Amino acid sequence: MSQSLHTPAELNTTVGVLQSVAIITGQRDRDLMARTLASTLTELIHCSDVKMYRILPADQGEEAVLVAEARNDFDITAALSENRVMVSSRPDFSAVSSSGKEYVQPLSKKVFLSVYPIIGKHGVIGLCEIISEALSDEERHLVMAFLRVYSNYLTILDESETDTLTDLLNRRTFDNNIEKIIAEHSASDESQAVSDAQRPARRRGALDLPHWLAIIDIDRFKRINDKFGHLYGDEVLLLLSRNMQRIFRQRDKLFRFGGEEFIVVLDRTSEKNARAVLDRFRAEVEQYHFPQVGKVTISIGFVRMDKVDAPSAIIGRADQALYYAKHHGRNQVCFYEDLVAKGELVGERYSNDMQMF
Ligand code: GH3
Ligand code: MG
Ligand code: MG
Repeated sequence: MSQSLHTPAELNTTVGVLQSVAIITGQRDRDLMARTLASTLTELIHCSDVKMYRILPADQGEEAVLVAEARNDFDITAALSENRVMVSSRPDFSAVSSSGKEYVQPLSKKVFLSVYPIIGKHGVIGLCEIISEALSDEERHLVMAFLRVYSNYLTILDESETDTLTDLLNRRTFDNNIEKIIAEHSASDESQAVSDAQRPARRRGALDLPHWLAIIDIDRFKRINDKFGHLYGDEVLLLLSRNMQRIFRQRDKLFRFGGEEFIVVLDRTSEKNARAVLDRFRAEVEQYHFPQVGKVTISIGFVRMDKVDAPSAIIGRADQALYYAKHHGRNQVCFYEDLVAKGELVGERYSNDMQMF
C-alpha cells in the first residue's frame, strides 16, 4: 500500500505526471482510485498530508466521508476509522462545497490547510484536503488538473454503471456486484468491521439485520405500450424510477433489471420495515398520476438475503413470489417465506428434488 509510485527522478516530469494519470485511470474501484490519487499527490507536490472525501447526502444535510488518506511516504488508508463529518460543521468544507472554489487557511506561520473541490456533473461530489507549506501556482494547478481527471473518470465509471433511460444502476452492474452484496451481508459482524466503520454509529446496531431483494414488475405494461405507444411507456419507466429514488433510502440499491422489471436491494432492515417500505412504494405508485397514461400498478416479490446463496437462487425465489403476485390479482407485494409457510409455494430444496421427476 505504501509503495512509492515513482522514483524521485520521475517526479514533476511530464512522463511522471502521465504515468500517474495512467495508474489512477487504470483502476476500476473508486476507493482504490482515491487512494492512488492521494498517494500520487503527496509525491508530486510538497505536502505532508492528503485526504480525499466523498460527499454523500445524509439525513440532515451533507456528510463528507473520508475515503483515502496519504502522508508523505506512508499510506494510512487501512487505518481509516469513523471519519465522517457534516459538511456544515466545517466552514472550509461548506465554503468549498457551495462555491466550487479552493479554500486555503493557515494552520501556523508556514503550514497551510487547503481544501479543493472535486466537481462532478451535478456539482461538488468530493473534497481534497491538503496540509502543506505554501503551494506554488504550478502545484495548485497540478492538484486541480489531477482532480479534474479524477472526477471526469468517476463520471465515466458512473455512466457505465447506470441505465440511460432511468439513471438507475444497470443490469451489468447488478451482475457484477450481486455476489459482493450477498457476501457482505452474509458475513459475520466481526468481518464487517472495516466496511461498517464507515457507517454512522447509530447504524451499527442494525448489523444483525438482513438485506432484502425485491423484484418489481409493472402490471400489464404491454397494454400501456399498445394503447399509448412506446414513448409513453418509456415515460412511465422514467417516472416510476423517480418514485423509486424518492421513496427508497440512499443506502438501498436500485437497479433496472430488464425492460419493465426493477430490483431493489434493501439495506439492512427488519422484516417489518422491509414489508412496510415495499408496500408503501406499491401504494404510492397506485396513487400516482402518470401523465396521459393515468393509473399504473406494480407487483413485487421479495426475499430475505441472509444466507450464503447463489444469486440465481435468491432471484429465483423473489421471482416465484412475483409470479404468485401476478397470478393472484397483481398490485400486491408477496414475501417468499410467507408463501412457503402457507404452503402456497414449495420450498427451494423440495422443488429442486421435484425437478428430477
Ligand atoms: P404482467 O402484468 O404480467 O407483467 O404483464 P406485462 O404486459 O407487463 O408483461 P409482459 O412481459 O407481457 O410485457 C412486458 C412489456 O414491456 C413488453 C415490452 O414491449 C415492454 N417493454 C420492455 N422494455 C421496454 C422499454 O424499454 N420501453 C418500453 N416502452 N416498453 C418496454
Ligand atoms: Mg416483466
Ligand atoms: Mg409486467
